[in-house]
Amino acid sequence: MAEIIRDKYGRIIFTKEMKKEYTVLVPDMLPIHFNLMKNIFTAEGYKVELLDNKGANVKQLGLKYMHNDICYPALLVAGQFLDAIKSGKYDVNKIAFIIMQTGGGCRASNYIHLLRKAIKKAGYPNIPIISFNISGLEKNSGFKLTLPIIRKTLASVIYGDLIMLLSNQTRPYEVKKGESDRLIKKWVSDLSKQFRVSKGYGFKQMRENFDKIIRNFSDIKIEKKEKIKVGIVGEIYVKYAKFANNDLEKFLEEHNCEVMVPGLLGFLMFKVDARIQDHLLYGGNIIRNVLAKKLLHFLEKIENAFMEAVEKSRFTQLSAYEHTKPLVNGLIGLGNRMGEGWFLPAEMIDLVNYGYENIVCTQPFGCLPTHICGKGMVHKIKTMYPNANIVPVDYDTGATKVNQENRIKLMLSVAAEKLQNE
Ligand code: SF4
Repeated sequence: MAEIIRDKYGRIIFTKEMKKEYTVLVPDMLPIHFNLMKNIFTAEGYKVELLDNKGANVKQLGLKYMHNDICYPALLVAGQFLDAIKSGKYDVNKIAFIIMQTGGGCRASNYIHLLRKAIKKAGYPNIPIISFNISGLEKNSGFKLTLPIIRKTLASVIYGDLIMLLSNQTRPYEVKKGESDRLIKKWVSDLSKQFRVSKGYGFKQMRENFDKIIRNFSDIKIEKKEKIKVGIVGEIYVKYAKFANNDLEKFLEEHNCEVMVPGLLGFLMFKVDARIQDHLLYGGNIIRNVLAKKLLHFLEKIENAFMEAVEKSRFTQLSAYEHTKPLVNGLIGLGNRMGEGWFLPAEMIDLVNYGYENIVCTQPFGCLPTHICGKGMVHKIKTMYPNANIVPVDYDTGATKVNQENRIKLMLSVAAEKLQNE
């Protein structure tokens, strides 16, 4: 059995032996993207499982073992881990957890320490928690992000974004229900097979796959119906994770809406660019700045390939990352980079410009960045764009689903009336 080794701060290192013996549990956020990523790591010899446990118990465990003024996403992730431990499904001596650390100043960078504290307090001090980061924040001998893994992971981000975009614009209009979901499964499986044999993440292969995926979705038979177009923005976890937002996308689809959820790549580009903006504003390490510029350039190339492919089709896409910056001129500075920072109001304006004037801005309780850059910007955006119909919705353990849905329904009734008049 793998030996428990700690670093000088007492953190358990995920060792090579653990890689062979342990199951790594991942909190789910974006099912398409995360399933692709899971398959990449499985092919590399890891045992990985996506957690989809939900319900009141998860929230209660989060509340019990985390400080109760911590932000909602941190609380849910801790609750999911603790619920998994207590489920009896796993050998608690052979599991590890993994979470992403962005390296920013927000709590997303500090989650990991809070989680370790919570897991220890719950009586499991020997469960390793792995940090998934590319900023070199924490290292583990048994968990290495090699260049092929990083490239495949980035490819799965863009494939996930593409499939999400296409399926959201197809599902509400399908003649035969379930066609889009069938294609999602097919492409997650096909792409995972390609990754396994080191294919599918070079630019040429990505372009070919983009065209094939778009062709497949275009072939789904649809009937044109009038739908309310709704954009979903907000804090990254609450915006994407259906457990956190009470299955918002499904709720909207059931209420005659077509949903647009901005992709993950834009957020990653914003996070990389934040380093460059920091350097412009405050100076600092030149090497880091150069590396950030190179990485941003690489991501722009991926984004370009994606946009060129979608451009040729009937599907709507939002602006390229670089083109979102001028949208917030006079509204918020580019140095505002905690949480979703300036990119959140930019996404809202971009959605309005592309006809998704009705917007749900999801915000977790205890999240100061989203309250400033999300809710705090709504009034000004509405003044600048009178067509914008935005509703900020708070998500936390105390907020009731009925209350949230009533607020959204109010926004939808305004949208439906406008649609009828048009
Ligand atoms: S952005 Fe908000 S919700 Fe996300 S980690 Fe930071 S404080 Fe928490």
